[in-house]
Amino acid sequence: KSGFVAIIGRPNVGKSTLMNQIIGQKIAIMSDKPQTTRNKIHGVYTSDNGQIVFLDTPGIHKPTSKLGDYMSKVAHSTLGEVDAILFLVDVAEGLGGGDRYIIEQLKHVETPVILVLNKIDRVHPEELLPIIVSYKDLYNFAEIVPISALKGNNVTTLLEQIIRYL
Ligand code: GDP
Ligand code: MG
Repeated sequence: KSGFVAIIGRPNVGKSTLMNQIIGQKIAIMSDKPQTTRNKIHGVYTSDNGQIVFLDTPGIHKPTSKLGDYMSKVAHSTLGEVDAILFLVDVAEGLGGGDRYIIEQLKHVETPVILVLNKIDRVHPEELLPIIVSYKDLYNFAEIVPISALKGNNVTTLLEQIIRYL
């Protein structure tokens, strides 16, 4: 199996850290260059089970300019074309305005969305359930996967879930 996955989420939720964890330092460093092109490849993960091409998707945030407006149109066409969307959030921050804006945008695409609850190392396990509920109330996610991109917890499970959608 092989396919394309878009990674979206507010700044600082851990998108680059997750790519570091999955693909390795080299490619993730490349992705820290200014994001000016569309459908930038974040990295390619290959295993016996399949190949996942991760796309960086800038411009999903609230447009503040004409360029931002263009970027946001590009982002929407990308989201409609990929096999799955990884929507990363920061559980230590919880559901905020930035996440709500992205969720509104997701309502315009049919692509399955995997909610990735990142930074679980920063909260107590009992705090996780109410956070899950707050997101679940807003959108019908295909999967919900708690991880720590930094520590590597549950990242293998996330990869297995992604491969199911390719
Ligand atoms: P991006 O803007 O979405 O690419 O976010 P980054 O990957 O640059 O991460 C932003 C900050 O969050 C960095 O300081 C990371 O070390 C930290 N971070 C990312 N993932 C985790 C995690 O799972 N746990 C903790 N505690 N920190 C994390
Ligand atoms: Mg980044």
